[in-house]
Amino acid sequence: KLYNQVQDLKGNIRVYCRVRPFLDGQSSFMSTVEHIEKGDIVITTPSKYGKEGRKSFSFNKVFGPNATQAEVFSDTRSLIRSVLDGYNVCIFAYGQTGSGKTFTMTGPKELTEESLGVNYRALNDLFLISNQRRDTIHYDIFVQMLEIYNEQVRDLLVTDGLNKKLEIRNSSQNRINVPDANLVPVSSTNDVIEMMNLGQKNRAVGATAMNDRSSRSHSCLTVHVQGRDLASGTILRGSMHLVDLAGSERVDKSEVTGDRLKEAQHINKSLSALGDVIASLAQKNAHVPYRNSKLTQLLQDSLGGQAKTLMFVHISPELEALGETISTLKFAERVA
Ligand code: ADP
Ligand code: MG
Repeated sequence: KLYNQVQDLKGNIRVYCRVRPFLDGQSSFMSTVEHIEKGDIVITTPSKYGKEGRKSFSFNKVFGPNATQAEVFSDTRSLIRSVLDGYNVCIFAYGQTGSGKTFTMTGPKELTEESLGVNYRALNDLFLISNQRRDTIHYDIFVQMLEIYNEQVRDLLVTDGLNKKLEIRNSSQNRINVPDANLVPVSSTNDVIEMMNLGQKNRAVGATAMNDRSSRSHSCLTVHVQGRDLASGTILRGSMHLVDLAGSERVDKSEVTGDRLKEAQHINKSLSALGDVIASLAQKNAHVPYRNSKLTQLLQDSLGGQAKTLMFVHISPELEALGETISTLKFAERVA
């Protein structure tokens, strides 16, 4: 209750920052992260990288390099309950390529129980809570997995026809849907793992052809929940979008051409459109510019209004990443 009141004041938008640890072989590297305390993070900016000194940023929470997947998820839990209460929820992973977006949402390549990411944990919680309520509410849960690449939407849950381009529709009740995408009923964590494996395999198919396309496309796992109150027959609907965004790094226009430049422009456009939408919601502007990208169109009914938004912004601790780290934190501060 109190949580909801606090969130209402804040426009239902939360921003968490997560700092990736150094990877194998980087143990002697110097970190640009000088200090973390609750929601505050201080970045050092040595003189040879521009202005000397420190920059500090504030978010709802900052997770340091030692934070576990379970710790990161535990602060996300209240949102999962909201989905079953009929709210729409969006959870985003933002950051430059290599900063840990996929790690947060899915996990590392070799998954173990401890390393499972938000997607698995969220669905597991959905099944747990829906089961706890089974004497009063019957829930049906469906999953969809889409990819947005170069402003085109594709279904990742197909066994053929992977490159078919899909339309986003706005129904009469103002609900957004992609009518031609598969909507798969799931009733257990195992169903979900099977389905996510198919989606990841399909993403990888694109990757071999296009050379790591996954970092240049957005992937969106959507969970639709429909609950029927067993006593009154009342139906409630909630949804959750779990979005692993394309890498936010800026490419140097003088260095890339052709397909790479086109990709970069599409990514740039959709990430700024997302930033504009969230910032205008946070400022309670009358006009929210949803129409400027496929991503914001797809998520329109889950951003703003009663919907709840959580953005995980990821940063890499290396000195070489400093420029991107600062621009990531500036993007995040704008929407926080
Ligand atoms: P992105 O999806 O943003 O490109 P990844 O999630 O693929 O980045 O992370 C890059 C590498 O760093 C991967 O090898 C991943 O397993 C590792 N990594 C990322 N975050 C963490 C973390 N919090 N703890 C341990 N390893 C991590
Ligand atoms: Mg990734």
